[in-house]
Amino acid sequence: MEDLSVEFTSRRGVLRALDNVSLTLEAGEFLGMVGESGAGKSMTGNAILGLIDPPGKIVSGDIRLQGESIVKNPERIRGSHISMIFQDPLSSLNPLKTIGAQLIETIELHTPRRGTAARERAAELMTQIGVDADRLSAYPHQFSGGMRQRVVIALAMASEPEIIIADEPTTALDVSVQAQVLDLLREVCSAHGTSVILITHDMGVIGHWTDRVGVMYAGRLIEIGTTNDIIRSPRHPYTQGLIASTPTMDANVDTTLYQIPGNMPPLTAIPDGCAFNPRCPIAEDKCREVIPHLINDVACHLRSET
Ligand code: SF4
Ligand code: MG
Repeated sequence: MEDLSVEFTSRRGVLRALDNVSLTLEAGEFLGMVGESGAGKSMTGNAILGLIDPPGKIVSGDIRLQGESIVKNPERIRGSHISMIFQDPLSSLNPLKTIGAQLIETIELHTPRRGTAARERAAELMTQIGVDADRLSAYPHQFSGGMRQRVVIALAMASEPEIIIADEPTTALDVSVQAQVLDLLREVCSAHGTSVILITHDMGVIGHWTDRVGVMYAGRLIEIGTTNDIIRSPRHPYTQGLIASTPTMDANVDTTLYQIPGNMPPLTAIPDGCAFNPRCPIAEDKCREVIPHLINDVACHLRSET
């Protein structure tokens, strides 16, 4: 993704939902996208999937998959090369069809397997997600929430995609089930070399299940790096606040957790210069005037060096 900007135009003016976002996803990696709600994480995923609803539109920049631009014809890419997993598994499953019928349909639509071969592959996918192949004949409502999300993972893998975009895939599940589902996602994707963009507001999830992480704020990518570096030595003041305010993330924090003062601005009221400047403990005059670009993986006037 290169310099991608998305705008929504309404009678009240133009909202910039994504502002010059650039990032690269390597084959087989788990990239986390973290930030508060409205920061642009889902918008980034939706832009890749070609799912930005009007009046929103991509106004500049490009998205390429293996060198080929996918902005113009996302339909060709969605489903066969890029699959998605959403928070609510029921939004991905047809309540009126058995799991088997849905898996086989996806396999036949996006891979060369037909008939018996597709059926065998469906059974194999069920085994991979730890669900008995007998349950191919069951309907979505006959599964628990966690099992349903496992089935959605199987469905996302059925088209043998290069990329899976998982938007808050476990937010609706309780913590132990969440861990099982994310472990499974990692396991299944590693086995197939599938890349994952894991969108979450939960820094704990990032710490456990991602290789690299991009931090978003007010429609901008403000820091990106290996998960290890971001958690151990965050450079952007917002990322530092995010880490310091996450339980168990920083061993030095005793019982009182840090809280970043104030709130992320709505897209209707993004301050001039650095969007974080009203909340930043080290802001200088320049920060209120000039937008910091991502340089050396950090978008901060004072932290981009080195
Ligand atoms: Fe703070 Fe300025 Fe850096 Fe923004 S650019 S994070 S306001 S120091
Ligand atoms: Mg979201």
